Amino acid sequence: MENQEKFRDKIATADDQGKRLWVFPKKPSGKFYEYRKYVSYILLILLFAAPFVKINGNQFMMFNILERRFNIFGFPFWPQDFHIFVIMMVIGVVFIILFTVAFGRIFCGWFCPQTIFMEMVFRRIEYWIEGDRGKQMRLEKQKWDSEKIRKRSLKWFLFFVISFLIANVFLAYLIGSDRLIQYVTDGPLNHLSTFISLLIFTAVFYFVFAWFREQVCVIACPYGRLQGVLLDNKSIVVAYDHKRGEKEKGRAKFKKNENRAETGKGDCIDCFQCVQVCPTGIDIRNGTQLECINCTACIDACDSMMEAVDLPKGLIRYASEENIEKKAKFRFTPRLKGYSIVLGILTAVLVGMLFIRSEVEARILRLPGQLYERKADNVVSNVFTYKLVNKTTADFEDIEFRLLSHKGVIKPVKTSNITVPGQELTEGTLFIEIHTAALEDEKEKLKIGVYSGDRLIETTSTMFMGPRSFN
Ligand code: SF4
Ligand code: SF4
Repeated sequence: MENQEKFRDKIATADDQGKRLWVFPKKPSGKFYEYRKYVSYILLILLFAAPFVKINGNQFMMFNILERRFNIFGFPFWPQDFHIFVIMMVIGVVFIILFTVAFGRIFCGWFCPQTIFMEMVFRRIEYWIEGDRGKQMRLEKQKWDSEKIRKRSLKWFLFFVISFLIANVFLAYLIGSDRLIQYVTDGPLNHLSTFISLLIFTAVFYFVFAWFREQVCVIACPYGRLQGVLLDNKSIVVAYDHKRGEKEKGRAKFKKNENRAETGKGDCIDCFQCVQVCPTGIDIRNGTQLECINCTACIDACDSMMEAVDLPKGLIRYASEENIEKKAKFRFTPRLKGYSIVLGILTAVLVGMLFIRSEVEARILRLPGQLYERKADNVVSNVFTYKLVNKTTADFEDIEFRLLSHKGVIKPVKTSNITVPGQELTEGTLFIEIHTAALEDEKEKLKIGVYSGDRLIETTSTMFMGPRSFN
């Protein structure tokens, strides 16, 4: 027992001294690997295309942190929409939690960009140049002869080119694809600081995919760490059916013409194929482990062995601990129901927010330090500054402010043709004049309509100050 638990003492990719053990995973093949390839093609296309596709003139996906401008599915979000952005983030987190509780790290194996790039791009280039596991291990031990120099330099060169490409796309997400294309056409030396950032990103991607690799999932990724608190014995994960694999006498090497059912040996023929194929270097037969990214490579490997020895497939499969122990089917547990309700409520709130979200955001604030001015005929005047943010790509012209809650007049300092160009901001000053007869208190909330021509594009409110006594 003590020996069986030994794997918990250290991670599979480090030796007893803590030195990195390089993983040479065997090239996966099988049903799941084929499906994962198709999913990766779709995701790679989406990932590379998203910053270059535009909807209504808006970049499909953009995360311009420096200017605090974000586009999600073609919807532009300004700093003023921060609350919507926060709700979206919370929904994302709850969705991931719900998904993890139900299906373990399915996201890591099928959708995470790290896995997609590592397993479906960089690793496949490696297999193509250096060959499968055995050949890679031999090449690693080989002295630096012409073959090794040729293979390694070609691999590293291609890794660098792809890292550079990914860094460009990453930059397109950050600063916008239009600006990136502009910088490329202007020449990198005219935008030296951005070019240096690009090279730094390239170096980071190269480091991650050429050297750091599975260590991202094993020691750096916070999502992997969450597994321990989110998974329970009902969560579906890539699991080894230890009941079937070990039976009474435990796993044992395959012997031709033996009837394993009679001998009491488990169905696991101890071929180590599931271990050799694992990109994080673990043995799934030790149970669910933090390092497992649910990539399904071991399912494919084990299925092909089971087929070869004429035993039923599925010794390693998507299953919950409960399913393996008691043959229990997947159930929608109270915990899952709770998360789903929270997710439903948050999504409804988000839809509501998007629905009432205006195209133009208006802020009208009293000029600091100014009280009010008494004018002739018992008219009181306050001075305000206004700020209009156009969240669309279309221009709004002939902007007019109208008092909706009180009788009175609004007089902008700039009187003719106030315009808010698409995706821009217009600021100015205005006076509001109200007769004291229309005021009930010294401080009143005004409702103001912002019109473009005759079209109401936004309503906003502000405070108006009057004298304490109106006599
Ligand atoms: S144990 Fe299986 S599913 Fe988990 S990372 Fe290794 S090969 Fe992938
Ligand atoms: S691939 Fe299947 S049979 Fe082979 S060692 Fe792994 S679990 Fe056992």
